[in-house]
Amino acid sequence: MLAGLLSRPAPVRSAFRPLTLPRVVRSGARGLATSSDPYDVVVIGGGPGGYVAAIKAAQLGLRTACVEKRGSLGGTCLNVGCIPSKSLLNNSHIYHATLHDTKRRGIDVGDVKLNLPVMLKAKEDAVTALTKGIEGLFKKNKVDYIKGAGSFASPTTVRVDLLDGGETELEAKNIIIATGSEVATFPGLEIDEDRVVSSTGALSMQEVPKRFVVIGGGVIGLEMGSVWSRLGSEVTVVEFQKAIGGPGVDGEIAKAFKRTLEKQGIKFRLGTKLASMDKQSDKVVLNLEDVDGGKTDQIEADRVLLAIGRRPVTDGLNLEAVGIETDDRGRIIVDDQYNTTCKGVKCIGDATFGPMLAHKAEEEGIAAVEIIKTGHGHVNYDVIPSVIYTAPEVAWVGRTEEQLKKDGVEYKVGKFPFMANSRAKTNLDSEGQVKILAEKETDRVLGVHIMGPNAGEMIAEGALAMEYSASAEDIARTCHAHPTLSEAFKEAALASYSKPINF
Ligand SMILES: Cc1cc2nc3c(=O)[nH]c(=O)nc-3n(C[C@H](O)[C@H](O)[C@H](O)COP(=O)(O)OP(=O)(O)OC[C@H]3O[C@@H](n4cnc5c(N)ncnc54)[C@H](O)[C@@H]3O)c2cc1C
Repeated sequence: MLAGLLSRPAPVRSAFRPLTLPRVVRSGARGLATSSDPYDVVVIGGGPGGYVAAIKAAQLGLRTACVEKRGSLGGTCLNVGCIPSKSLLNNSHIYHATLHDTKRRGIDVGDVKLNLPVMLKAKEDAVTALTKGIEGLFKKNKVDYIKGAGSFASPTTVRVDLLDGGETELEAKNIIIATGSEVATFPGLEIDEDRVVSSTGALSMQEVPKRFVVIGGGVIGLEMGSVWSRLGSEVTVVEFQKAIGGPGVDGEIAKAFKRTLEKQGIKFRLGTKLASMDKQSDKVVLNLEDVDGGKTDQIEADRVLLAIGRRPVTDGLNLEAVGIETDDRGRIIVDDQYNTTCKGVKCIGDATFGPMLAHKAEEEGIAAVEIIKTGHGHVNYDVIPSVIYTAPEVAWVGRTEEQLKKDGVEYKVGKFPFMANSRAKTNLDSEGQVKILAEKETDRVLGVHIMGPNAGEMIAEGALAMEYSASAEDIARTCHAHPTLSEAFKEAALASYSKPINF
């Protein structure tokens, strides 16, 4: 994943001239450093990358501060990403299941109604509790939490425009940039968070749109499309590619997943791009174009979600002043020890290379701090799981069949359908399968792809197996409790080199 990065940190540019800024330390601020008493580590950004790095640094005995401008910790993930989306996914699923999936379970329910304000409040409550929880962890671990926007005054000085007025400067032996990412915008496709929303707006719509068009059939588009479809919207997903879910999803799973979402009522326009849109007072008219033939047509929507990508946040950091370079996609360039092109400054998470995932940012935060403390730190980029939290969930780790073919690797496939898993059948929740790809010669597991109930939890078993270079036989010979969904995982492993027992 980090291939092609700099092999060693470039020297700080000689053109660098430190800025001379007035030093104003907020009165009463707790534990702010002075130039004679520098922090060991200052982290800019309090998202999953930054806050985890800060806590780990403090746990390793390093004097640490974390600068965050949002006013709450947890970054995109806790405030407008992973957590609020999962709250809505969970509660919209319960609502939908209560409406449509109770009779056959022997549960007769009365008048089921959506109370959207309460559902949105439950989401906000989860966010508040978790972000406050990180503040508590900072206190417990003695991380100084500096509320404000950080920028480089020099390679060892972070200037902070404090949220409650004034500014301060923090001297640091090491600085970690963890400023994350934000919604990418495109000319002509302006987001107003009303008729045309980003993922942030889609998490807070105050009414259920009748017609909801999602531009982008990746993870965020499918999750938000599922939420509003369950709550009653007619959802159409427009996707440039000819498959859904993004590049990491195994082709066979992506096809099955699309069929499943279609059965749930979501419509797809694949191989189609949004050419332009016309925002009117009561609707949005979208002009679509077939990517192959250039054939055009129009669809209308009451609300549109643009879920076509995110870009790194580096604005206002004053990177140029310290010679920190970015690539053509705005990502901060780092080497394999997260060093930027400015000595003593590292970068992790969404602001640099690799998949934009909270757990990837967290792992990098830990590794970067361990490198600072001990000279060693490690993230295995071949074993980073991904999950789409729809119902059923889709989860994967490692390579797809398509990638293995492209890489010329000889492999075996073992599959096991949840239809044949006793727990899934008993739960009346048996859509999907587990698919394990193992190297033909060595039996080493190279990829795990799951669509099914609790796939997002089960994928951890795949990641653990791959981290320890397990063979499919290692998994199949590991005793799995009965009756559990994870028996499907064991049976898929068994199927890759022998025959499954229950199918
Ligand atoms: C709708 C949605 C759903 C998602 N769901 C998932 C999911 O289920 N699982 C998953 O793994 N990932 C998910 N993600 C992606 C995940 O949120 C990101 O990959 C993750 O938050 C990246 O962490 P980070 O620490 O690099 O950056 P961020 O979380 O973006 O945090 C960076 C922080 O830095 C702060 N900052 C920026 N500049 C400055 C500055 N100059 N000074 C001070 N502070 C600054 C920002 O305010 C922000 O709080 C989702 C994203 C979205 C949008």
